[in-house]
Amino acid sequence: MRPTIHLIGLPTDQNSSFERGAALGPAAIRNALWSDRGNLSTEGGLEIGTDIELHDKGDLPLSDVDCTADDRLIADAVGAALAVAGVPLSLGGDHAITYPLVAALAARHGPVNILHFDAHPDLYADFEGNPRSHASPFARIMEAGYATRLVQVGIRTLTRHCRDQADRFGVEIIPMTGFRPDMVPLLDGPLYISIDIDGIDPSEAPGVAHPEPGGLTLREVLAVLTRQKAPIVGADIVELNPSRDLNDVTAILAAKLVRELAALIHLNNREQPI
Ligand code: MN
Ligand code: MN
Repeated sequence: MRPTIHLIGLPTDQNSSFERGAALGPAAIRNALWSDRGNLSTEGGLEIGTDIELHDKGDLPLSDVDCTADDRLIADAVGAALAVAGVPLSLGGDHAITYPLVAALAARHGPVNILHFDAHPDLYADFEGNPRSHASPFARIMEAGYATRLVQVGIRTLTRHCRDQADRFGVEIIPMTGFRPDMVPLLDGPLYISIDIDGIDPSEAPGVAHPEPGGLTLREVLAVLTRQKAPIVGADIVELNPSRDLNDVTAILAAKLVRELAALIHLNNREQPI
């Protein structure tokens, strides 16, 4: 059976800690995705639309000030996808959105395994007094028991506090030193994939609020992704900040990730429906 993928925009910035702009991410990614500058191919040969069923559900009308109300809208959008056996592929927005997304999916599927690409572990107990900061979603997810395994790739900014948090929650951090894609374990389903664009090196993806040199190449990210074979219950691409982008290169990279994630969801879920 052909999986249905719901592309959902979450234009919010309310939990960004340093500068705003990520709320403009979904529009920039859509512009790049549907632009005639590129096409809808994927590297495995499948095409969006022809082979892969991707429905663009538009942006949610988030308040961008009321976290509780916005969490409800996000849960409703996930619920709408689940009601038609669809898989939400969400576009941020700051990384705080991953917590309500995973919460809604765990409510249906039970605890998930998470593959998380990021320069930062996002494990702060709170950041500058905000427990819902974009620096904290994975602390909230682990505390709530929404994830069985959390595997982090691209991490290169580990503070002492976050190292303690990772130990406390049993987070598996794959070191960047000597990184190879085959160092990343193959996870069982239900699998959730979260891609913070700043996990990729700023030379390829400059349009982020917190650039950190020494990152992953897009090619390495794709190599990690295509090795994963488990059914995928959801995915997100977050933290694109178009105000810092150069010639839209980061938006175009994010749009390629949409296509490749959609292809992976299609392939992995076709054999083993969620
Ligand atoms: Mn980050
Ligand atoms: Mn992040």
